Amino acid sequence: MTIAHSLGFPRIGKRRELKKAVEAFWRGELTQEQLLAEGKALRQQHWQWQAEAGLDYVPVGDFAWYDQVLNVSCTLGVIPSRFLADAQQTSTTVDLDLYFKMARGYTDDQGEVAACEMTKWFDTNYHYLVPEFTENQSFKISSNQLLDEIEEASQLGLKAKPVLLGPLSYLWLGKAKGSDFDKLTLLDELVSVYGELLAKIAALGIEWVQLDEPILTLDLPNSWRQGFETAYNRLQSSSLNILLATYFGALADNLATTINLPTEGLHIDLVRAPEQLTSVVDRLPAYKVLSVGVVNGRNVWRTDLNGWLDRLQPVKQKLGERLWVGPSCSLLHSPVDVDQEQGFAEDVRQWLAFAVQKNKEIAVLAKALNGNESAEINAAFEKSSLAFKAKHSSSRIHDQTVQARIQAIDDTIATRQLPYHERIELQRQQLKLPLLPTTTIGSFPQTTAIRAARKAFKAGKTTEADYRTEMQRQIAEAISRQEALDLDVLVHGEAERNDMVEYFGEQLSGFLFSQHGWVQSYGSRCVKPPIILGDIKREQPMTVEWIRYAQSLTEKPLKGMLTGPVTMLCWSFPREDVSREVSCLQLALALRDEVQDLEKAGIHVIQIDEPAIREGLPLRKAEWQQYLDWAVRCFKIASCGVENTTQIHTHMCYSEFNDIIEAIAALDADVITIETSRSDMELLDAFEDFAYPNDIGPGVYDIHSPNVPSPAWIKQLLKKAANKIALKRLWVNPDCGLKTRDWAETEQALANMVTVAKELREEY
Ligand code: GLN
Ligand code: ZN
Repeated sequence: MTIAHSLGFPRIGKRRELKKAVEAFWRGELTQEQLLAEGKALRQQHWQWQAEAGLDYVPVGDFAWYDQVLNVSCTLGVIPSRFLADAQQTSTTVDLDLYFKMARGYTDDQGEVAACEMTKWFDTNYHYLVPEFTENQSFKISSNQLLDEIEEASQLGLKAKPVLLGPLSYLWLGKAKGSDFDKLTLLDELVSVYGELLAKIAALGIEWVQLDEPILTLDLPNSWRQGFETAYNRLQSSSLNILLATYFGALADNLATTINLPTEGLHIDLVRAPEQLTSVVDRLPAYKVLSVGVVNGRNVWRTDLNGWLDRLQPVKQKLGERLWVGPSCSLLHSPVDVDQEQGFAEDVRQWLAFAVQKNKEIAVLAKALNGNESAEINAAFEKSSLAFKAKHSSSRIHDQTVQARIQAIDDTIATRQLPYHERIELQRQQLKLPLLPTTTIGSFPQTTAIRAARKAFKAGKTTEADYRTEMQRQIAEAISRQEALDLDVLVHGEAERNDMVEYFGEQLSGFLFSQHGWVQSYGSRCVKPPIILGDIKREQPMTVEWIRYAQSLTEKPLKGMLTGPVTMLCWSFPREDVSREVSCLQLALALRDEVQDLEKAGIHVIQIDEPAIREGLPLRKAEWQQYLDWAVRCFKIASCGVENTTQIHTHMCYSEFNDIIEAIAALDADVITIETSRSDMELLDAFEDFAYPNDIGPGVYDIHSPNVPSPAWIKQLLKKAANKIALKRLWVNPDCGLKTRDWAETEQALANMVTVAKELREEY
């Protein structure tokens, strides 16, 4: 029989119950007992849905109070010493208190203890807590959470398949602390503890355990491939069947290693890498189960069941019982349940499947492969096919005018009229800016008044006219404060924006917004990404009215503020019927029109934010260039339709520029503002080494903290910057937008920043 299973279910709850409970617990409004009960209820509910959907195994171990990688660290006793009462202590039993301390950091009378670092989980928007390893790291089972949850599921009469991050991926994702040693030296001891853990799992009567090794879809050094062989040869002695789960891409050059590892099963991602099916099936050892991930765990669309049935039937004939069906990866990355959405048109709802629906698809597909031809199964396939046909021809998806415009793009629209060094002179004449011009990144404090005004308008409680008056009042206030501070290039402050993607998505056709489509981003934080439904078109100007109003209040140049095409794409659920590049081009054209309208409205400085360009990078280096080529082209299509005298800014907030500096330069923005203050201007080295030609505004203070930077501090940073970048190309600005700060600290910090810029103008 073909088994239907899942790699994991979202833990947040369909109304973000976990988030609410955890935050209430942090605030002291919920007891630990109440929190534990809430978690237990959620697990039960989620298992029940999965069993009802028809899965043969339910995943156990996908639940976490904060993060699944932190769970593994706690299970294996990888606790950084700063969280231990006694620095000599080598192990402890992890309770909820310690768990949350590691997740969030804490302050006691000794001072502040920093939380574990957080970083992005492969190319998703999920963030995990980075394990910290020391050179003589020891491992010891220090939490029974996984074992307890297995028992919990068994007591409910469910067939549990524990899921756990595998040893190699766990090690890879962690950081060597203290000295710079080779993490692989820890593998041996780590595998011993995994062995112990697997023995305990086996003792609970478990048949299959899923070990996730997503790093098998990355470029791996040979030593790590060998590590896989050593580790899995040792782990096979346990009496459990291991399903080795790979996802987020193709095995490619890791195929030979992976397929021959002595695990009883292998899971592959056929959504990201459908092409690998044949080669994997051809080389699959006769003893091994193959789990095919065909339901997309990272998107919101219904699966083409008929298409997959056709492709999988020959595989079923070949593998028989040894073929399993599942999602491409854990459903952690998809929203929970489309049935609770009220705002979708009925045809649109039929095109969507969130986690609950995806499990049903998996079960239906498995049943069909098992030869089940019941009316129920046939109806499910019929429905899927009808939905696909309707979508294929729907005018909600296809807009001929947009497609024709894409066809007509020629590369002249993706270059400025004059090269940077010529147009920058014209801009300097036009803008009449001093040396070391000062500016900000766009947003100003989003006060309670601003949020309340937006909320009331959204809820239909205020008229459009009243709302506009209130926003204009906010803009006027932002302008007068900036004038008082004597900043050189002003912004309108983004009061009208809830979110830098949603604001634009709501005004563009082709986007869809869910009510409850939340996905965990990190800890208790969730995001609700917009859904790109179809061809994207700008119906009318999106920002011009606000920006024009702001400019009318000041003689100083006002900087128009837009979110770039790549960022809008990266922070949305993409279409599956066209490439990411196509949607990005459509976004670029829509933004190009907006840029030109801003210019017509008398705006001579326009910023196009691209904070997400780096996170769109493919996991495999070999695919980077192709992505960067179209990402850069899209930015240029959006930005190059202006006169030489119009100055294009862009903004990015991340730390690694070294490996993409060429692409950053190719954007050819007149000015780039970046986040650098926490790196002590070291990030500028990449720009210096590359001889990056255009203007740069390295952030001079960290906006993540409420601390007001002193003039001396700002000055020493700027002097460092001036050693790396020619003075006349240097701008002065904070690291990022100020929307999370309050006005008092913002004004003080900016006043110090302006003072320093003025002093340096005298000095240089
Ligand atoms: N213009 C945006 C702001 O200031 C930029 C935000 C970002 O870079 N993430 O808020
Ligand atoms: Zn930023």
